[in-house]
Order: sequence, then C-alpha cells, then structure tokens
Amino acid sequence: MSLIVQKFGGSSVRDAQRVLNVARRVATVFDQGNKVVVVVSAQGDTTDDLIAKAMEINPKANKREMDVLLSSGEQISIALLAMALESMGYPAKSLTGWQAGFVTDSTHGNSRIRRVETERIENELDKGNIVIVAGFQGLNRYDDITTLGRGGSDTSAVAIAAACRADLCQIYTDVDGVYTADPRLVSGTRKLSEITYDEMLELASLGAQVLHNRSVEMAKKYNVPLEVLSSLEEKPGTVIKEVAKVEKMLIKGVAKDDEVTRISIIGVQDIPGIAFQIFSALAAKKVNVDIILQSVGRNETKDITFTVADSQREDALAVVEGLKGTLRAKGISCEGVTKVSVVGAGMESNYGVAAKMFEALSEASINIQMIATSEIKISVLIDREDGLRAMRVVHEAFFAT
Ligand code: ADP
Ligand code: ASP
Ligand code: MG
Repeated sequence: MSLIVQKFGGSSVRDAQRVLNVARRVATVFDQGNKVVVVVSAQGDTTDDLIAKAMEINPKANKREMDVLLSSGEQISIALLAMALESMGYPAKSLTGWQAGFVTDSTHGNSRIRRVETERIENELDKGNIVIVAGFQGLNRYDDITTLGRGGSDTSAVAIAAACRADLCQIYTDVDGVYTADPRLVSGTRKLSEITYDEMLELASLGAQVLHNRSVEMAKKYNVPLEVLSSLEEKPGTVIKEVAKVEKMLIKGVAKDDEVTRISIIGVQDIPGIAFQIFSALAAKKVNVDIILQSVGRNETKDITFTVADSQREDALAVVEGLKGTLRAKGISCEGVTKVSVVGAGMESNYGVAAKMFEALSEASINIQMIATSEIKISVLIDREDGLRAMRVVHEAFFAT
C-alpha cells in the first residue's frame, strides 16, 4: 500500500462538475489500494474575489485579518470535495490547515511552514478515510491563522508528503505538465518529461507560476518525488527529481516575471561603505533585494540600482528616501519592469547561451536594462511593454525546430 498526496488547484475545483471530477480521480487511486491525502485550493477566482472584497472596505487592511479572510476560500473546497466523495460512497474527512497540524511562522500573507504535526492526518488514514486538507493555511505559535503566499497550496501538499513520508506527491492543474514556457502565452512550447529540482526551482522563482517556488525547495530538501499533471486528461505529466534524463537541450525553459520594481539611487558619493549602508537598511526592513548594479564612479559619484518585487516597492522606497540626505544622493528613480530569464543546467558547460539570448532580443529591437547570471540561469530586465514579445522571441531562438 502506498501513500499518495494529490493537490488540485483552483481551476480544477472551479465548480460542481470539476469537484465531482476530482472526487472521481481521487476515488480511482483509493480503489487501487492506496492511502490518499488530497490538498485543495480555493475554487476558481475565490482568493482574488476575497481580496477585492477586502479592498472595498479597507485597502490597508491588517495582514492578520486578511489571512482570516483568505483562508476561508480553501475551507469551502475541502467541505465540497468531502461531500462529493461521500455522495459516491467513499469515506472522506476534511481538515483545515490547523486541524491538519500546519504550524507556520508569523509572517502573515507569506508564512513559512515550520512543521506539520501529522497525528490527526495519520489517525484518519488509519481509520480508512480519504483525508482532504485545506491548502495555503496554518497557525502561528500565537494560534493566529496564517497563509503561505499566493500559490501556496502546492507547498502545503509537498509539506504533507515530506512529513508523512509519502511515496509520491502529485500536483494536478490545468496544464498537463511543465512546459518550456507558459503554453498560454507562447506558441510552440514543448512539454518536459523530466526536470531537476534545481532547474524547476529557478523557473518557479523566476515567474513560472505552475509550481510555488517553496514547494520545489521543500521537495528538494526532503527528496519528495514530485509530479505535475492535468486534472482533466489522463496522461503522463512532468516528473521533478534530483537527476533528470540528459536531453540535448541547452536550456529547459523561459520564464517571465512582470512584478519587478527597479530603484536607482543617483549620484551618491563614490566612497567605501555606501552599498553597505543602503543594503543593511533594506535588510533591516526585511526587503528582499534581487539584482544589484553599481556604476563605475565618475566625478566622485556613482549610481546604485537594484530590484525588488513590486509587493515590496513601498517598503524599499521608504528606506532609500530616508537615506537620501545621509548619502547626499542627487535623486531617486523607480520604475516597474519585466524580468525574462532562460534556465537550464546545460548552459554551464556550453558557450553562447547568453549571446543567443541577446541576439534574439537585439533582432527584436528590445533594449536590455540590466543582466544577471548564475550557473543555470540568465536574466535580463527590460521595459514592461516588451515583456511578452521578449519571452516569445527568446523561446523561439532556443526551441524553434
Ligand atoms: P493551479 O490553480 O492549479 O495552482 P496555476 O494557475 O497556479 O494553477 O498554475 C498553472 C498555470 O501555470 C498554467 O495554466 C500556465 O498558464 C502557467 N504556467 C506558467 N509557466 C508555465 C510552464 N513553464 N509550464 C506550464 N505552465 C506554466
Ligand atoms: N488560493 C490561493 C491562491 O489563489 C492558494 C493557491 O491557489 O495555491 O493563491
Ligand atoms: Mg498554483
């Protein structure tokens, strides 16, 4: 008997038909003699709708109250799925995140899972129940409800799989696997049969929303066998694992992130300690800085540019505005930009990947503002209006047959 964790996203439980479809898929795996834990997200656009409701009343709502509100979406889904299974004659028990033992830190709206206390889940499985758990939610040590950040139900599923030592964690969604780019935005994409945890982590962190990046981080850490597949069609998906088949692919995929803010501090003194002052002040306010670029000093001044997620724009600007006087900066500029990245372990041992990417952008007359590289990725920052076109031409350059 195997223990299988299955996660179904919002579009997979969108309406009654889809909930019944999920129930049938779960029942099939249960009938094959497996223990099954199912993690579900809120139905369709429920989370967005709940955010809109809050904005109508208080656009600056307290994050604790936002978590109380947003966690309600997943609670609807677990009850409906349990009812669907019950109607088909299957024993099912729904559990909220806190009943299922999710203990998180206290960062409301973007909590990290500290541990999953699995006794309740295991008791229900031992009683022969299909266990249905609300994704995306937990409790902090003050017994307050927390949520794991948008897309966080993937991480709830992997956390249960790791804590219960499941044999497999399956993420069912509205595409049938991980593609070389978002198949809804780019034509000619190819499905990957396998991808390594490291490559998937980069793709997810760089904007491929098919998996929550923390779910991949956790799957790698605890060696959870992970699979992405369609909730509507029965066919093989994409397997994410430590070592993937060697394919003749220089890169595995192209990702795009439109939620990037670029902040420049212009004309600061060209003396030691300036970067330290800026970035330690940002760190103290928990601002996560991504790409950093410092210009060569000229006339005893230099410019420092960095990027943050749009969600941290206000916090980052407050820090640099506060430092402007001390740094004797001549100005501060701030702009929303797009980051387009190529990812693949194959590029480590191959020359020319960067050149090929830059050539595609140059031929499309797309200007590159900043570049960042690591062993397995190259990212460029460009104007937001060029984002989609850039993703398409870069994908075409690497994957056109
Ligand atoms: P769910 O509601 O099931 O969690 P998401 O909307 O979070 O689903 O993730 C699935 C979506 O991810 C797909 O519909 C697709 O548009 C998008 N996506 C982005 N990048 C990729 C990629 N490289 N491969 C497959 N899907 C991708
Ligand atoms: N319902 C949450 C969201 O929309 C969590 C998830 O879907 O994974 O972000
Ligand atoms: Mg998702």
